[in-house]
Amino acid sequence: MPAKGKHRRPKFLRLPRSIAVAGTGGAALALPLMGAVCAHAAAPAAAVPSAAQKIATVAVSAGTAVEKTYVVKAGDTLAKIADRQHVSGGWKKLYADNRAVVGADPAAIRPGLKLTIAAADATRSSVSTATPTSVGPAVEAAAKAPKAAAAAYTLPVEGATIGTGYKVPGSMWSSGYHTGVDFVVPTGTTVRSVAAGTVVSAGWGGAYGNQVVIQHADGRYSQYAHLSALSVSAGQSVTAGQRIGLSGATGNVTGPHLHFEIRTTPDYGSDLDPVAYLRAHGVVVG
Ligand SMILES: [Zn+2]
Repeated sequence: MPAKGKHRRPKFLRLPRSIAVAGTGGAALALPLMGAVCAHAAAPAAAVPSAAQKIATVAVSAGTAVEKTYVVKAGDTLAKIADRQHVSGGWKKLYADNRAVVGADPAAIRPGLKLTIAAADATRSSVSTATPTSVGPAVEAAAKAPKAAAAAYTLPVEGATIGTGYKVPGSMWSSGYHTGVDFVVPTGTTVRSVAAGTVVSAGWGGAYGNQVVIQHADGRYSQYAHLSALSVSAGQSVTAGQRIGLSGATGNVTGPHLHFEIRTTPDYGSDLDPVAYLRAHGVVVG
């Protein structure tokens, strides 16, 4: 069984998020799961309007879409948004691109959420020449980030020991292994962005509790989970070492710690070795 500071992540998600939010301790086994496989399995297949995907395909071939931010309105569903915004790949792609913001339940989007609508083509350089009104704050901030600022990296928490390391196998994780590294720190410890970047999401992340995901200039993403407080919001630029929140034990945990990941995308399942990454950038870890 997991020791203090480790995760216990049930393998299948069957329950709506509202139950997880309401359960504050005794309902550990009812908490939702962030695993990509399971969340996709939980997605209601009947909610996919076949017409939406056809429309999206047409939009792609036209190649007119650019990356932008969409703010969820009352009555919206991912399927409706995907249809109206001509998202290539439909609501499933929209959900995959915004997992960190939406959380474990694709049916539970709330008004005010900011979704990223992906570009239809892969020529990211074209984004910078798009009209300003169609470009999201994250993209604008990234475009303004100085290219030479990639040097400074720092630890996400000071003086912490490593609890569970990267890729430690275990049945408690949906992927079969630990996708990040756990820094053992008491609740309330300052958590810092390991490098300059742009906040992709800051909010509830299901089994991850309150989490922050930050995009960095090298295209990598850092994730900070189980936070007790958030100091940043989506779209905000941060500097290396800037406080982004306080550590805690929110989500599916057996004790307070900081779960930290480095990813190639904002999403669960694209993890890299976070300790190797920090060390490659000159940070002394453990
Ligand atoms: Zn962890």
